[in-house]
Amino acid sequence: MSFANQLFTRLRRKLGIDTLPEKYTYAQDPRFGKVSASRVADRWVKTTCGYCSVGCGMEVGVKYGKAVAVRGNENHPVNRGKLCPKGLSEHHTLTAPGRARQPLLRKEGRLVPVSWDEALDTMVGKFGSIQQKYGRQSLGVIGTGQLVTEEFYTLGKLVQLGFGTSNFDGNTTLCMASAVSGYKLSFGSDGPPGSYADMETADVILLIGANIADNHPILCQRLERNKRRTLIVVDPRVTKTAMMADIHLPVKPRSDIALINGIAHVLVREGLIDREYIAAHTNGYEEFAEYVSTFHPEYVAKVTGLNEETILTTARLYGKAKAAFIGWTMGVNHSTQGAVTVAAINNLSLITGNIGRAGASPFSITGQCNAMGTRESGFTSSLPGYRKFDVPADRQELAEIWKIDVERIPTVRGLTYPDIIEGAVAGKIKAMWIIATNPVVSFPNYDVLQQALNSLEFLVVQDGFYPTPTCDFADLVLPAAIWGEKEGTYTNSERRIGKVNAIVAPPGEARTDFDIFLDIAERLGVRGELYPGWQTSHDAFLEWQQVSKGRMCDYSPFTWRQIEEEGGAQWGGERLYQDGVFPNQDGRARLHCVPCEPFTEQPNDEFPIILNTGRTVEHWHTRTKTAQVDLLNTMVPHAWLEMNPIDAERLQLKPHDKVTVISRRSRVPNLELRITGIVAPGQAFMPFHFSEHNSNLVTLGAFDPISREPNFKQSAVRVERTAFTVFEHVSQITKATGRDAATQ
Ligand code: SF4
Repeated sequence: MSFANQLFTRLRRKLGIDTLPEKYTYAQDPRFGKVSASRVADRWVKTTCGYCSVGCGMEVGVKYGKAVAVRGNENHPVNRGKLCPKGLSEHHTLTAPGRARQPLLRKEGRLVPVSWDEALDTMVGKFGSIQQKYGRQSLGVIGTGQLVTEEFYTLGKLVQLGFGTSNFDGNTTLCMASAVSGYKLSFGSDGPPGSYADMETADVILLIGANIADNHPILCQRLERNKRRTLIVVDPRVTKTAMMADIHLPVKPRSDIALINGIAHVLVREGLIDREYIAAHTNGYEEFAEYVSTFHPEYVAKVTGLNEETILTTARLYGKAKAAFIGWTMGVNHSTQGAVTVAAINNLSLITGNIGRAGASPFSITGQCNAMGTRESGFTSSLPGYRKFDVPADRQELAEIWKIDVERIPTVRGLTYPDIIEGAVAGKIKAMWIIATNPVVSFPNYDVLQQALNSLEFLVVQDGFYPTPTCDFADLVLPAAIWGEKEGTYTNSERRIGKVNAIVAPPGEARTDFDIFLDIAERLGVRGELYPGWQTSHDAFLEWQQVSKGRMCDYSPFTWRQIEEEGGAQWGGERLYQDGVFPNQDGRARLHCVPCEPFTEQPNDEFPIILNTGRTVEHWHTRTKTAQVDLLNTMVPHAWLEMNPIDAERLQLKPHDKVTVISRRSRVPNLELRITGIVAPGQAFMPFHFSEHNSNLVTLGAFDPISREPNFKQSAVRVERTAFTVFEHVSQITKATGRDAATQ
């Protein structure tokens, strides 16, 4: 708007005659009817949602070069035109006020704007001198499932072959590592075997620790299309998903292994198993059958809190189904026993032959939009293309594609995310690079994380948003593009590769992560060697096609254009293991005897309540994005604590009282109390999205020994009425936002 126009507008407003026509003039949209003229797009750009792993296809409306609206892609096989509230308002993230716009370098205690040259020269120089002094492995890098696959693949090469450190992991370890490890334990490889289509054709759907109504809403639509199914939901809490169920099993926290073994016991005892499938495709059945013979319904009822009849009914429904589907998410994965719980779930599918057929699958529902892509293109828990660090032929194959000495490829994986943090506390990790993730809010046991970040000699935070609580610890902040500003692919939970398109340019001086990686490679002197001739993320895709060719996650048959036009393509087809051949050496899946252990931090007199954490549909992870979207944030502006009426009465608490949650580690004050039968007596629930009420101040720093995934759930706490509201609130904000307030 010209200066004269601005003056004229101001004058009209002052005089009270401005009707805000640019906002309130209506126009006819061909699909939506009458809407604000400002939202009638000139053109629509196809893309894939950048929030969760459902991977909905959408179209973003563009007017005068700005994203003004979003609509579901009616032809997309995942969502068929539907979107959840986050997807429908996603274009607002592109113009959100809290975007990172320029590189910031800490000078004399303050983050001040610098040029990209100064930022990247400083980063490469600092990392170099630290690695020279303490060794290559003193650098830790934590990536994210928010990058497109092409970027994550590029990053893996840069970290492992450019910087020469194997201490590289993704924030996906905080949500999906146990699913990966569990699949590897049973089948010999990662890779969800089924499809969303299976939810529409299964007779029985068993959801374990999966509140899809809040976390993967569009999957509820897929499920609702299946009118014949019996839905059984296993969850200690009466979630929105549990309310949709035919049978809700409100198990005691962390008794899922007992329930699963108990179901297996009934299946074996009553002959509801597929002997032919077991004989042809599995190992370890005799030992397994012997093991589960001790899980009598009577015993399982005591452990789970369910009655025997319910356990028998569930087992018989599952065992007699023509096709049975088991889905799970964080209720299973967020545990010190997550990986083996996944193996126990796989046991059920294997002994009944419920795998590799329509409607029949053990199916991990992933978290982030591209958690799957990072698992496949890796260089974290496995080598790219699901290759193994310890298999010489896998390393040799990559060395030949990359034309490098095979000795440069690590033979074992480096430190996982939690071990990088512990390594920093122990003084072994001296520099860290955190990309598009916000550990100050998302990592358990904040006090330990704070020690880790404070002990670093140099911390780089690369993010699309600024400030974030993690930026407060940074020595250098690199502003990055987000969804809608870059091009590449995401892969969703059902292995469907979706095309992601740039709709607008990044704000200010922000750059795509891909461009940042190449620029760093240039400064390290490895760009020509690692990325010969690369200019765009499509060059990364072309190499990734070559690297994945012939592997389970083979991208070579698909082009970007085809993926976009067809609404994505599933690597491995609609479902894996249709031939019953598994990627273990003998081609057979393994049955595992999984013990049922008590969870780590049991309640006692001082901390009598078991705290569970989770999500709500309106927000995403640590709210760096959704707190900036008015539509979402006004619906759920702050955290809360759910408590059963019996506990509330014992503590003489009333609805909406402000309460403090206290664990052995710290406290979260000033939470609004919701008294509800949704949680069982002796349990409480709070969402984990809010930095202002950071649940990870009180969560436990315990990790799965196999997957290294944190046990975010089942922390022993006590709840008190908040005494010193103002003081505690100020101290809470100070703690959640880091070591100083001197940032710009
Ligand atoms: S369900 Fe997930 S992928 Fe679909 S619109 Fe919502 S956040 Fe996006």
